Amino acid sequence: MKEYASFKISSSFLLPNSNIYSTFTTHKNQNKKYPTILMASSTKFIFITGGVTSSLGKGIIAASLAKLLQARGIRVTIQKFDPYLNIDPGTLNPYEHGECYVTEDGAETDLDLGHYERFLNSPTSQANNVTTGRIYNNVITKERRGEYLGKTVQVIPHITDEIKRNFFKLGETGKYDVIITEIGGCVGDIESLPFIEAVRQVKWDIGVNNFLVVHLTLIPYLAAAKELKTKPTQHSVKQLLEAGIQPDILVCRTEHPLPLEVKKKLSLFCNVQLNSVIEAMDAETIYDVPLLMKKEKLDERVMTKLKLSAKKNTDLEQWKDFLGKLKNPTSEVKIGLIGKYVSLPDAYKSIIEAFVHAGAACECKVNLALISSEELHPENIAKKLEDLDGIVVAPGFGERGLEGKIETVKFARENKMPFFGICLGMQVAVIEFARNVLKLKSANSTEMDPKTAHPVIALMEEQKNLELMGGTMRLGSYPCELKKGSKAAQAYGKLKINERHRHRYEFNNKYLKAIEEKGLIPSGINPETNLVEIVEVKDHPWFIGTQFHPEYKSTVLNPHPLFVRFIAATIENKKIK
Ligand code: GLN
Repeated sequence: MKEYASFKISSSFLLPNSNIYSTFTTHKNQNKKYPTILMASSTKFIFITGGVTSSLGKGIIAASLAKLLQARGIRVTIQKFDPYLNIDPGTLNPYEHGECYVTEDGAETDLDLGHYERFLNSPTSQANNVTTGRIYNNVITKERRGEYLGKTVQVIPHITDEIKRNFFKLGETGKYDVIITEIGGCVGDIESLPFIEAVRQVKWDIGVNNFLVVHLTLIPYLAAAKELKTKPTQHSVKQLLEAGIQPDILVCRTEHPLPLEVKKKLSLFCNVQLNSVIEAMDAETIYDVPLLMKKEKLDERVMTKLKLSAKKNTDLEQWKDFLGKLKNPTSEVKIGLIGKYVSLPDAYKSIIEAFVHAGAACECKVNLALISSEELHPENIAKKLEDLDGIVVAPGFGERGLEGKIETVKFARENKMPFFGICLGMQVAVIEFARNVLKLKSANSTEMDPKTAHPVIALMEEQKNLELMGGTMRLGSYPCELKKGSKAAQAYGKLKINERHRHRYEFNNKYLKAIEEKGLIPSGINPETNLVEIVEVKDHPWFIGTQFHPEYKSTVLNPHPLFVRFIAATIENKKIK
């Protein structure tokens, strides 16, 4: 039996339905048992670290590797550990960190989880995204509960143990053979040190055959010297080695092919096998990366090193089919995405990707024009929008740019241009309809004008007394029933759906009858709360607003039906223009 501070590891047991086992510790002076870290017997863990610079695309490499393993029949998931102190990215301005992605279970997460779902076609959850803030919050809460029994609570072992517990959480479900963990940030950052230390320790908790580190790095090209430079990579690997971690595989982002000499140099100086130096050339689209990584045999290297047995052949037929359609479109449309975060396309990541999936399904090249709603006024609106084939009004918060969005909706409704309003976009569609069709000139959302005489969009009762901002919106998946014969029902091909939400304000049912009578139809209703989830204009080729975010559920293999139908409508619109 091993002594562990004042605790003894007294027993270990297999968790139900899993090959992970947990240990209990018993305090010397009490008979109370405390679960400590979990250890995995045969679940394999792959850690992906990044070096040299951020934004190298760890998320895409993680998702591509996962895709290749999944295509060989391996059960795999991906989780991301982010080193910042926010408990989750829900309170971050999109300009800080790009879009906030939302999972089925209502977690507000990093946008990389969107890539994981889009590539793997399987849902993630709160457990797939953990921040330093969450780790510290857990540890401090335990400390206040007295769970550390008088010990000095420290980064090592308490924070690192908490990190490891979270590394292993998804393994407890017994659903995965392999868990890929992306460590956010760069090695060498002060804030990611505890994560790196936890990774080092994990190797010994789970055994070397179950542990692998893939380090993603950059090989810059110096045009003046006509040379690819390995030194930054050598330095970043050195930093990993100083932290006690030897990377097993190097994935090298590069704008030029890596000559054998460069690979040899990397192998020699970074202590990595030559065939584990993987070239990752810039790709035409992120969806090419799995095939590029397959060509470079990344999956084979991983399988050999982890002694993973799996299907010999990779089943990527549907993926290739998607790529074929994406690259050989038979039509082309221009769609305006009207929002206020347009200078950072990452703020609309899931919407942009949903258009890629749906565009491929329609064999149509979708040119998205991101247009700032602040630039749109009654005087210039026609000029700015008339060459578009369809219009999307994006989700968002706050008053800035609202009037431009209202003008946009009016333009789309009156000119019969295909329109798709998402979340705030749907709320704006309701406001516009109330103002211009019902003639309620002061109609507004109480988010923008708390004292409006006509609060057509308003706070739900349960939202009124909330004081905390983080994690308190209506979040995650809710059911919705569609009206027979509506455009929404036609698109989905069924009447019961579930979609993900992220908002506080709702359609105010006091105005439902009046609005419906004038032709804005509530075609989707939450059967439990009667909240309006979808509105559509009756006499219009395609005008739909959704209170939920359909973009979160669009994947390569399952393009979202509303996006597909919207593109089909824009193709039609272009023909008759
Ligand atoms: N600001 C609006 C609300 O909170 C819409 C949110 C959104 O578009 N995601 O209800």
